[in-house]
Amino acid sequence: MAYDPNNIFAKILRGEIPCNKVYEDEHALAFHDINPQAPVHVLVIPKGEFVSMADFTAQAPDDLIVGFMRAVGKVAEELGLVEPGYRTLANAGANAHQEVPHLHIHIFGGQRLGPMLDRTFSA
Ligand code: 5GP
Repeated sequence: MAYDPNNIFAKILRGEIPCNKVYEDEHALAFHDINPQAPVHVLVIPKGEFVSMADFTAQAPDDLIVGFMRAVGKVAEELGLVEPGYRTLANAGANAHQEVPHLHIHIFGGQRLGPMLDRTFSA
């Protein structure tokens, strides 16, 4: 899928629309999800034009991949989530209901998070 520079997270990165920022460095921006699904629900996005994890890991320069992943860990640490535990999740494509076509990692925490996925699959 081609990157759409008018997606909402691209606009947040360009400062065209506001966000509730929790962390920023040269590689990443983290902000609270507008529709939280847990007491803590933060999104971490890389500073670059990448649709998904597959796109990012195939196309991004090494320093951006390293910097972005370090930022995810740092945000979890700074939010106090490491000791009680938290979940990271990155939706990609239609089956995962990805809404915004700019790679983002969700960080969930602040309560027991329940099962990893909906229990709608049985092998
Ligand atoms: P996805 O389904 O693509 O993994 O998740 C997209 C997430 O972005 C959703 O949890 C949604 O609530 C969040 N979101 C959508 N638009 C905005 C926005 O304008 N600002 C913020 N902070 N979050 C947004």
